[in-house]
Order: sequence, then structure tokens, then C-alpha cells
Amino acid sequence: MRETATPTYDVVVIGGGVVGCAVLRELSRYDLRLLLLEKEADLAEGVSKGNSGVIHAGFNVPSGSLKAKTNVAGLALIYPLAVELGVPHRKTGNLVVALSDEDRPRLEELKAEGDRSGVPDLEIVDETAIRRLEPLARGRWALYSPHTGIISPYELTVALAECAWQNGAEVRLETPVEAVGSGDGLFRLATPKGTIAARRVVNSAGLFADEVARLAGIEDYRVFPYRGEYLIADKDCGLRLGLPVYPVSSRNDPGLGIHITPTLEGNIILGPSAEPVEDKRDAASTREVMARLKAEAGRLMPELGGVPFIHSYTGIRPKLVDPSGRDRFRDFVIEESGLRPGWINLVGIESPGLTAAPAIAKMVAAMIGGRLDMREKPGFIAGQPPRIRFAHAGDSERAERVSRDADWGEMVCRCEHVTRAEVVSALRNPFGVRTMDAVKRRTRCGMGRCQGGFCTPRIVEILQDEGVPADGITKRGGVSRLFYGRIKG
Ligand SMILES: Cc1cc2nc3c(=O)[nH]c(=O)nc-3n(C[C@H](O)[C@H](O)[C@H](O)COP(=O)(O)OP(=O)(O)OC[C@H]3O[C@@H](n4cnc5c(N)ncnc54)[C@H](O)[C@@H]3O)c2cc1C
Repeated sequence: MRETATPTYDVVVIGGGVVGCAVLRELSRYDLRLLLLEKEADLAEGVSKGNSGVIHAGFNVPSGSLKAKTNVAGLALIYPLAVELGVPHRKTGNLVVALSDEDRPRLEELKAEGDRSGVPDLEIVDETAIRRLEPLARGRWALYSPHTGIISPYELTVALAECAWQNGAEVRLETPVEAVGSGDGLFRLATPKGTIAARRVVNSAGLFADEVARLAGIEDYRVFPYRGEYLIADKDCGLRLGLPVYPVSSRNDPGLGIHITPTLEGNIILGPSAEPVEDKRDAASTREVMARLKAEAGRLMPELGGVPFIHSYTGIRPKLVDPSGRDRFRDFVIEESGLRPGWINLVGIESPGLTAAPAIAKMVAAMIGGRLDMREKPGFIAGQPPRIRFAHAGDSERAERVSRDADWGEMVCRCEHVTRAEVVSALRNPFGVRTMDAVKRRTRCGMGRCQGGFCTPRIVEILQDEGVPADGITKRGGVSRLFYGRIKG
């Protein structure tokens, strides 16, 4: 396997999810030649797009584990990081609710676990405090964690990659790693677009990290997909939820139980379920689970009974726990391969991987720093100010923008109040991603009540104005074309 005429990279990161992008940004502080390879047409197309978006405090995982350590370290890092990168987020706090006195010992166990891990300010509160903290929540007792929060996972992922790119890192999309060779102190990564040489490799391929490791001859891991289904309520359902509300889950639950989570934009999310599936790509939403989500969430919050739901989605957990039940807990794997020195595997990065990503990135940088001569670059650009959103801007800001650029006055998405200027700006991203889903995740077009009924034809027009031919417009790259030809000439 010979590399095509590209430079030799100091580090290649495989996988453009939140973890890979956090690693790329962390490494971009140093004087290194960096490249991230992602098989899909955009970043955050894997596990990082289908989750609860909760910044976990760290009491749900066994103290002493890597999950707990990186969660607690990530909690301290992620809020300032989100501010630096201009990523929407909010510290909300959260409640884990016990409906009866019998469940109180489990809350005490969770609190003790959190205290041992150094989770700050956990408190067990009673019925009155529950109602004060979240009027929609019911319960006899609850564990209150004031530092839990919510964040937009895909906006965090994209912002991390954009920041790394501003600092000189390269990102190549639609570039799956298909084979790996090694020799002369280099790894050779074969992709359909050519072979790339790298001194170090970080395998951050999420659900596929076991398969990518296998390409390098590392047979140590098996990732089991566990499906988690969600339902999203209409923003205008009449309920305003301030913080995530979780049930007391049993120790054997493969997830955290079906919880109720607010989004930054004011929707309410129910879910996720947790069931092993055969296929890592099986992201189906099922009728039975939708009914179960409503029933279980309704026990915690009876007011949810009458609310309209506008959409469902699914996330797949990359678990190392074998569904046959051999072991109850498996930790994150963050290790350099003994067989292939210089190759770092990040495997089984399930929840709380979103929260832990900045801490995992620092661990990986330290591992690479132990082998490569890493000098901090002068002039590292830490981030960018938050993107202005028409939906959140005040009247004078809106008027000022429209007077400068008429595109700010053209409404593309009526549900989420997204203007043409915001869609055009999303399409002019540094990675050249021009799919419908890229626009959706960067602007919220199509995430509202009509689910794209109004904005889709308008985005199609803008895409064509930006030079994408109609038959080249896809939902998410690959074969997901929207159009196959013209009916009229
Ligand atoms: C249902 C659910 C709920 C969750 N809720 C939370 C939460 O509330 N809070 C929290 O902290 N965490 C949560 N998590 C966990 C969190 O979402 C994950 O830990 C995190 O997103 C993992 O990111 P990643 O970058 O490791 O993986 P991914 O986002 O999957 O990224 C891996 C990337 O690698 C790419 N790839 C794969 N193979 C190749 C190849 N051969 N070549 C090139 N690219 C390749 C994939 O396309 C993918 O984009 C949840 C997870 C799930 C499933």
C-alpha cells in the first residue's frame, strides 16, 4: 500500500463525531500536521447526532472508572469550551425522581457514587423542593444536581472541527478508511480517494471503532449496538420544562431510564429506550416503543398526556456490554495499542461521551505528547463568537441586519424563524458540506412543527443558487438524492 501524493500527517483522526472533533481541536493547539477522516458527508452523522444532549454531572457511572473521571473532568471543561466556541448550551440542573419512599435508597446510592467521584453539590430534596425546582415534576424524593445542563451536540461537534480547521487542521468528508497498512514507522490508511500516511492514528470511529481497529489487525474489541428511541413534543404544546427529569433507574438498566429533557429551543424530548439490535445502522422508530415512551414519561409527568408530538428519532449506543448479560458494566476504552504502537483506540464511548469528549481529548493529547515532540503554536484561535440567529435577535439587531443585507429579511423556515442569510452562511461552511441535513443541523430549518414542509423547496432553490444542481441535492450525501430528473423541461 503506497500513499498518494499527500503529505505525511503527524496525526490522523478517524471519525468526525464529537470525540474525534474534540481530539482534533485539542491537537490543533500544537505544531502538528493534522487530518480528520470521516466516512459520511458531514460531521456528527453518527452517535453524536442522536442523543439526549445532556451535560451529565457524573453520578450515574461507577466512581473510579474512566467514564466517571472523564465525565467529571468534562463537566468542568465543557461549559467554558461552549462559551469559547459560541455553542448554544444552558446549565439547567436536573432531578432524578423517586416516586415512592422505597426508591430513596437508590437515590442515596447515586449521591454516594457521585460524591466519591467528586461531582459537586449533589443534594437529596423532598416533594416541596421538587415542585419549586420544576413545577412539572412529581416525586416523593429526588437527587438534585445543579451543574447538569443541555447543549446542542451537533453544533458542538461542528464548532470543534471548525476551530481545529481555523488552527490549520484538515478535514476530509466522504472519506472512509477501508484498509490499514503499517511499516517504516508509518500507518497507511487506504480510502477510496487515495492512501494517507500518518505517524499516529486516533481511532474515534464510534459504533465502528471495533471494525476500524480490526483493519489495523487489532482484534480486541466488539461493539454491540443498543438502540435508543426518542419522541419530540411540539414547542407550542403549552408546557415549559426547565430541566431534565430522570426516573430512578435500576442498576441493571442499560440506559438511564426514559427521561424527559428540555431542548434549548423549548421542545420536550421523551426517551431514550434501550434495547440491543443486530445491525449498527438499525435506527428504526417503532410503534411499541413510542407507546412505551409516552406511558413511562407520563408516570413522571402526567401533564405530558395530551401533548402533540412532531417527530421521533433514534440514537444507537456503542456498547461493550454483551447483550447476553455476561457483564453489567464496561468502561470506556482509551488506550494505545500494544500491538500497533502509535495507534490509539477510543472504543465503547457511549454516554456520557458527549460530556466527556473534551476530557477524552486532553487524555489523547497527553498520550500523543508522550511520543511526539509537541510544541504549542503561538496564536491558537480558541473559538469564535456565537452565530447570530434571527429567531433570538432583538428588534433593533434584526432591523440593522436587514438594512445591511436583504437576505436577513427573507424567511426560509417559518416554524423556527430562520432567514435566507442564515441558510446561505451555513452552506458556505469550511468543509463544503451542502446537504439538506447540514442546513437543518446548522440552522434548525425543518426542525419545527411542519418538519420541512415549508422550507424544503426554499432550501432547494438556495442550494441551486449556490451552485448545487437539482440532481446533486441530497438529504445526507451518498445515495440520498432528493431528485432523479425533471418532469418538465
Ligand atoms: C441514545 C443516546 C443518548 C445519549 N445521551 C447522552 C447524553 O445525554 N449526554 C452525554 O454526555 N452523552 C450521551 N450519549 C453518548 C454520546 O452521544 C456519545 O458518547 C458520543 O456522541 C460519541 O461520539 P463519537 O465521536 O465517539 O462517535 P460518533 O459520533 O459515532 O462518531 C464516529 C464517527 O466515525 C465515523 N466513522 C466510522 N467508521 C469510519 C471509517 N471507517 N472511516 C471514517 N470514518 C468513520 C462515523 O461515520 C462517525 O461520524 C448518548 C448516546 C446515545 C446513543
